[in-house]
Amino acid sequence: MTAQNLPGRPHIAYRGDTLYIENVRLADLARAHGTPLFVYSKSAMLGALAAYQRGFAGRKAQICYAMKANSSLAILQLFARAGCGFDIVSGGELERVLAAGGEPGKIIFSGVGKTRAEMRQALETGIGCFNVESEAELDVLDEVARAMGKRAPVSIRVNPNVDAKTHPYISTGLKGNKFGIAHERTLATYQRAAALPGLQVVGIDCHIGSQITQESPYLDAMDRVLDLVDAIEAAGIRLHHIDFGGGLGIDYNGDTPPAADALWARLLAKLDARGYGDRQLMIEPGRSLVGNAGVCLTEVLYLKPGEQKNFCIVDAAMNDLPRPAMYEAYHQIVPLSVRAGNTSIWDLVGPICESGDWLGRDRALNLQPGDVLAVLSAGAYCMSMASNYNTRGRAAEVLVDGDQVHMIRQRESAADTFRHEKLL
Ligand SMILES: *Cc1c(COP(=O)(O)O)cnc(C)c1O
Repeated sequence: MTAQNLPGRPHIAYRGDTLYIENVRLADLARAHGTPLFVYSKSAMLGALAAYQRGFAGRKAQICYAMKANSSLAILQLFARAGCGFDIVSGGELERVLAAGGEPGKIIFSGVGKTRAEMRQALETGIGCFNVESEAELDVLDEVARAMGKRAPVSIRVNPNVDAKTHPYISTGLKGNKFGIAHERTLATYQRAAALPGLQVVGIDCHIGSQITQESPYLDAMDRVLDLVDAIEAAGIRLHHIDFGGGLGIDYNGDTPPAADALWARLLAKLDARGYGDRQLMIEPGRSLVGNAGVCLTEVLYLKPGEQKNFCIVDAAMNDLPRPAMYEAYHQIVPLSVRAGNTSIWDLVGPICESGDWLGRDRALNLQPGDVLAVLSAGAYCMSMASNYNTRGRAAEVLVDGDQVHMIRQRESAADTFRHEKLL
């Protein structure tokens, strides 16, 4: 086995047989901080953001990082300092992003199930916009805002009924999904919203899915949304901004999503052609800003060769890396030090008492107990989805900046996991 480059991840690379993130040897981090350990590259995150910023150069555009992808405080702080707004989906995320220095006016609030308490909290904070997902939610938001003597800025999330061509669990823009208002109901819903005194209509919004690797669903969704903008404005309701959501995919396993700047060159050309080029734009990228900036380091505990399968048991599990168990997702898994010699085929599994607790299947690796492996593309929807199942404390996180290492989250202890519990 020989070391190879890792396409799509310029900040994570072998030098000789040793894997580095920026200028830091990953093996040194595993030794210093233990495993499982999440490690992020600051320049990979800022580089991913820069691709969007280049795409929007000279335009009125606000990038709102969809913080559910990775909501660790230092990462939010990094994006806030870089000028990002945030797309939140709960009152908890609102508190979290404010703690990290997010600007209230640049926060948009998505989600199908906002509670009255969350609406009040967001109105008190003075967020930029509520992305409303149903007619019933409009009425409740109107009532809550009026009771506070306020007008809630709203955008309605429309469901353009386009197929994002991604995994069914992360496709959100089709008729059968729980998200947004049906295309046919959109105009009537805007007319209703415009008549409610507690609401101020400010925009329109869509988000068609996640891990989208083709341009065409975006182009189709934009056409469908702009048709609606035509109709809504013809009815006398002015839309200050248009929000095209997030969803751009990353390279997990040879996937070839368009680059953010190339995608936006195509989308902006369409926007210009349809006469909306000077409108305030918003986007809500999550995965594409952080996914390939992170790895999860895990140590090989035991090798368990068998008649049908060879199992390699590692110290990271589905509570740390839930995507394979949830979506049968693929993460590349590579050694921190490449060892010469023959590979065998392994299923990499965690210690949790579930057959669904696997990280990778049928991987050709030359392994020994004590080796440390890097699970790639672990920056998005891993730590933010991590749980304490099996009373496993959540992993530690470090952020690498050149040759500097910042500890951004301490490893959770067992005592941390039951701190709020009470004996009888
Ligand atoms: C999850 C989500 C996003 C971000 O999706 P990515 O695929 O991570 O870019 C954006 N907008 C909304 C409403 C979401 O729910």
